[in-house]
Amino acid sequence: MAPTLTFHGAAQEVTGSCYLLDTGASRLLLECGMFQGNDETERQNERPFPFDPASIQAVVLSHAHLDHSGRLPKLVREGFRGPIFATPPTRDLLEIILKDAAFLHARDIEWENRRRARSGRELLTPLFTEDDVTQALSQCRTREYGQRFQVTPDTDICFRDAGHIIGSAIVELWSGGRKLAFSGDLGNKDSLLLHDPATVRAADVLLLESTYGDRDHRSLEATLEEFEEILASATGNVIIPAFAVERTQEILYFLGDLYAAGKLKQQRVFLDSPMAIAATQVYGKYESLLNNEIPGARARSGKRRLLPPLQFTHSTEESMAINRVTAGAIIIAGSGMCTGGRVRHHLKYNLWRNEAQVVIVGFQARGTLGRALVDGAKTVRLLGEEIVVHAKIHTLGGFSAHAGQSQLVEWAGHFTERRPHIYLVHGEPEKMAALQTRLIQQLGFSAVEARLEQTISI
Ligand code: ZN
Repeated sequence: MAPTLTFHGAAQEVTGSCYLLDTGASRLLLECGMFQGNDETERQNERPFPFDPASIQAVVLSHAHLDHSGRLPKLVREGFRGPIFATPPTRDLLEIILKDAAFLHARDIEWENRRRARSGRELLTPLFTEDDVTQALSQCRTREYGQRFQVTPDTDICFRDAGHIIGSAIVELWSGGRKLAFSGDLGNKDSLLLHDPATVRAADVLLLESTYGDRDHRSLEATLEEFEEILASATGNVIIPAFAVERTQEILYFLGDLYAAGKLKQQRVFLDSPMAIAATQVYGKYESLLNNEIPGARARSGKRRLLPPLQFTHSTEESMAINRVTAGAIIIAGSGMCTGGRVRHHLKYNLWRNEAQVVIVGFQARGTLGRALVDGAKTVRLLGEEIVVHAKIHTLGGFSAHAGQSQLVEWAGHFTERRPHIYLVHGEPEKMAALQTRLIQQLGFSAVEARLEQTISI
């Protein structure tokens, strides 16, 4: 039989990436991501897998983000014992990201169970624990970019650099005389650190992400110019709620650039997030995959990029000591949408000050504190207190780690040797529709939107 592929997630939505390849002789899972968003979306993580985890021979992972990897511990808990193939940086980031997810999940379950115990309701069991994360990590098998290798007896794959976060991959897959290409999350060519996404020229079927299928991003140059002006004119502290992987390292790199040019007036830069510090070290370890070196990372090459004002604050005590700094510092702290983490303390100590600045560098989902600030909230509730917002809130739009519409179309245009039939994945319906129109009208491709639980033949 021709191999088939079933979309078990990230179809008409951006999270829960999970595709099952069945060749008749083997079963392979491409991604095993978590559903993320509102409560209803996240409840999908509690449902049983629509296949038997023990029947899967191998998993192929494009990159470490939770919406691509977050259900791996659950898969392992429910009987999957095969190899998980990923690039070396993906494996290292996976350890940081999955351990953090297990910690947060355990904390949430504990709080909910205390409530349930008091009201006499049945207690919840966690979907996965840190032991499941350890087990999943022990099943990881790393492969470099550009090597074609066997994942099951009848299927080969090759990872190619996707330029989205460090270690991110486009997947080429060969099975039963057919070829599938999967874009993974495709990077934005406007990146300070990462290479442009590798091009692929032939496939029978292409799964193409469509997160920003309907628009292009503002240019990085304009974004950096604005960022520089904010820093130059700031008199109070500058708070940057940061995403631990990629965005933080890009910001550190840019601050290093400003410092080298004698343009950074802030005397202190705090990276106040154990997770972002750990991710920065992964970026340093694999510097050969980057265009540029990051300050503070333990780089092995001779040329060290320096940012002397930079301090990594690991402990809670060090983090709390920052509260005494009332002006002149840049404080980079998680979480990126201000839904938890140390940034909430820094916001509490700074939002009410007229001279403070908050720089939003990433997407803010509806219902988050970050979104409330972007939308101009006059007061916010923070750590049990009502805090007035006097600080200036800036939103910088050009830092996306995803290709914009024109870049997606351009990348698909490289499939000239064998033109694939395209299934759009990892996007909301209106973004997919916009991208579909351009692929059909501009490049003459056949392109359709993937539907959840749809099975196609390759
Ligand atoms: Zn991603």
